[in-house]
Amino acid sequence: MTNTLADIPGRLDDLLGFSAPCRCGRVHGVDMRGVSIRRGALEDVVRFTREVGSSLRLVVVADRVTYEVAGERVLKLLLKDGHSARVCRVPDGAGGRPHADEAGLQTVEAALDGADLAVAVGSGTINDLTKLASYNRNIPYLVVATAPSMNGYTSAIAAVMQAGIKRTVDCHQPYAAIADLEILQKAPRELVTAGLGDLESKPTSTADFRLGGRIRGDYYCPAPEAVVLEAEARVADAAEGLRRRDSEALALLTEALMLSGISMKLAGSSSPASGGEHLISHFWDMSARDENRVEGWHGAQVGVATIVTATLYEFLQELNPADIDVDALVAAHSPVERMETAIRARHGPRAEAVLGEFSKKHPTAEQLGKELTGIRDGWEELWADVGQTLRPSARIRKILSGAGAAVTMGELGLEAEHLRRAFPAAREIRNRYTVLDFAADLGVLESRADYLLQASGCFS
Ligand SMILES: [Zn+2]
Ligand SMILES: [Zn+2]
Repeated sequence: MTNTLADIPGRLDDLLGFSAPCRCGRVHGVDMRGVSIRRGALEDVVRFTREVGSSLRLVVVADRVTYEVAGERVLKLLLKDGHSARVCRVPDGAGGRPHADEAGLQTVEAALDGADLAVAVGSGTINDLTKLASYNRNIPYLVVATAPSMNGYTSAIAAVMQAGIKRTVDCHQPYAAIADLEILQKAPRELVTAGLGDLESKPTSTADFRLGGRIRGDYYCPAPEAVVLEAEARVADAAEGLRRRDSEALALLTEALMLSGISMKLAGSSSPASGGEHLISHFWDMSARDENRVEGWHGAQVGVATIVTATLYEFLQELNPADIDVDALVAAHSPVERMETAIRARHGPRAEAVLGEFSKKHPTAEQLGKELTGIRDGWEELWADVGQTLRPSARIRKILSGAGAAVTMGELGLEAEHLRRAFPAAREIRNRYTVLDFAADLGVLESRADYLLQASGCFS
């Protein structure tokens, strides 16, 4: 144990293999050994594979599109270097693309039978499936990114749909991550802007990370979040370069997304990079099947949801703490049993699982009273801390639209109604305290929903 804060380096290269004890009681560590972001980085797959071993039995995991884009070249490079290699092509699902679900996971796990190393060639789905399947098979994996579309390349968690619920499963980091800027420049526009959307959630996700620590005593440490905040600020300034596929802007975005994934590994949880805005996006994913709708791009949804939660933060910061009527709020408190009918109506086939998650964090009347008193009495101090990482919703909208990313529900291919439904319901799907819970406990989440959602400017 130590009583000092871990001094975590800010550069990707310096983070590889990094480990330090911290006053938060955890050892902040990174298991990844390699990273390459440059033009021609694809060739580095040979070097990183050699570090793992020689004459390996490899499986290259790709989908129809990513095999064409880079998978075939990766396969040839590795065969030429003396390894034996097979291809696992994950089949397309709804919307003509693969999905991170149980069927996909079984396909990849079966393909990894007897392999020494898996090489994922793709973005979100292929990376999640290969990461989790290789972890379950107890072998390392490398990832070759085909788009800077999300922050999962370097995280130690995988998001998969299990029995209709989006779950993040703890697993391992890749041995190395490769991002060839020539390949990223050709990535579909909506994947690049999705990456920016995922990254732009940092101002609110880190604020939620702080809020959970202050109000609920959830785990919080400033060291992991510091890793990504600076990199995110550099990207925010370069967002318009992404519209032009400027290779420097793409490199900055990729680097910041990788740092964001690493911040989750350092924290040992997705909390620094996944707050209320992520719950809103997960809610839309979970209800997609009920509505015969294809899930949208994670980062695009997260970007729009971030404008919403940033608007909510602005509203909350303006409240007068003297107006917080603790006794009235406690008197209006509903235990989970009394909310059950409403929760069942909001979550349909997933209600049982949702109730299980939600009841873990829903306070008793007594807890609520204590929390609200603490919030009221420590109002200035609370915002001096939590407000530090926030950014105005108007600025977030400007950064996203500057890069051509979605800023409205219409641009996501969703209806205003999706946002109206998600706003009160999203917090119920997961046992994580976020600004949505904070607003609910202050009695404004539902009562001011119409005003807040209009104010977000995300309807259209
Ligand atoms: Zn720490
Ligand atoms: Zn995300």
